[in-house]
Amino acid sequence: MSFELPKLPYALDALQPYISKQTLEFHYGKHHQAYINNLNNLIPGSKFENATLEQIIREADGGIFNNGAQVWNHTFYFLSFSPEGVRQPQGNLAQAIESRFGSFDAFREQFTKAAVTLFGSGWAWLVKKGDQTLDIVQESNAGNPLRQGLTPLLTCDVWEHAYYLDYQNKRPDYLQAFWNVLDWKVISERF
Ligand code: MN
Repeated sequence: MSFELPKLPYALDALQPYISKQTLEFHYGKHHQAYINNLNNLIPGSKFENATLEQIIREADGGIFNNGAQVWNHTFYFLSFSPEGVRQPQGNLAQAIESRFGSFDAFREQFTKAAVTLFGSGWAWLVKKGDQTLDIVQESNAGNPLRQGLTPLLTCDVWEHAYYLDYQNKRPDYLQAFWNVLDWKVISERF
């Protein structure tokens, strides 16, 4: 199977001033594309030739896992954004956030902390567990919670390439901006 860069449902300048056009040109146009190219170069001749990205995430190791998970993670991340999205959780997800964290504000605080304190490169995730309750998890590098049988609902990329052009070393400023571009209609439908 050959993978392709997914189309984004917004223009590259649509998330400004929170995420700049230049960041998306590099992050989506170069980094995301590179993970896709790497994966397409690695899978021919491997046992993952006909695998889905989810199978690759659950079963692969080394370069195939790293690039396959990064492809999935970036698509999931970029498709969570919208310039005019709903900025509050909806329906069952809103209730689940309230019962697990107390309030949306308390959840945002905990998720932000998880993203800001993640050491090095990686991803902060909001996940649904098997019993339908929520949790926040940190994953290093290309890590993806599907590998632990969890259902990803939301992720924040904290690799420096996600924010360095806009915020340099100030990861907390990137997190503050992040909440302004999330589309909670899309995220709530994942629950
Ligand atoms: Mn990234």
